[in-house]
Amino acid sequence: MATGDASRAQPGAPRGAAERRQPWWRAALELLLPSVCASCGRDAPAGPLCGACALAPADVLAPPPRALSSWHAAIAHEGAGGDWVRRFKYPARGLPGLDPAAEAVAVGLVKGLVKRLPGAAPDLVVPVPLHARRLRERGFNPAALLAQACAREARVRFAPVLLTRLRDTPSQTGLSRAARRRNVAGVFVARATAAPRVWLVDDVVTTGSTLSEAARALRRAGVREVVGVCLAHRPLVG
Ligand SMILES: [Zn+2]
Repeated sequence: MATGDASRAQPGAPRGAAERRQPWWRAALELLLPSVCASCGRDAPAGPLCGACALAPADVLAPPPRALSSWHAAIAHEGAGGDWVRRFKYPARGLPGLDPAAEAVAVGLVKGLVKRLPGAAPDLVVPVPLHARRLRERGFNPAALLAQACAREARVRFAPVLLTRLRDTPSQTGLSRAARRRNVAGVFVARATAAPRVWLVDDVVTTGSTLSEAARALRRAGVREVVGVCLAHRPLVG
């Protein structure tokens, strides 16, 4: 498969949290200590949240945009679910890196979603990329972190640089469906790939304009089937 480049880190790109290794002592500690709930601190043997704090799975999404063969979200972006997503995407000032509890919850949720996904595993797992400038500012791409967790769970290759974002577009928040489409039109380009099936991972999906635009770039690069995999679904308001 001619996709060797895809999983290699981009030279010069900031080393985000997605690429950091878990220290050996953390893995050892996790084996020794019982898991506690990231929300309430009670026992959570199936971690990262206990039964009482567990978040309900998202409803089945409406039919996807044409470029995607299906799309799925772990949770609805509302209530406690929305709070965890915000904590994961925007760690509080003063934290040296990601919010570890929110990271554990977000990663646990997408891994759970991967276990429930219908169909065969893909050839590659690809995150929706941030623009290079935005990545430098934030220090990490939440979608890349989730995509890496999905790839590990499904035991398939993580391809963090297959897609590139050409322009730093304004946030989609507050935009209408049509404005969202215009905002991301032509914003992605993908390297040629021989991988027929790809999971395209993002943190939050609303109308699917961004996923659709990224999926179209993947299809132009040779991918035949793109499945959207998202942490949370936030319906378009207004
Ligand atoms: Zn709990």
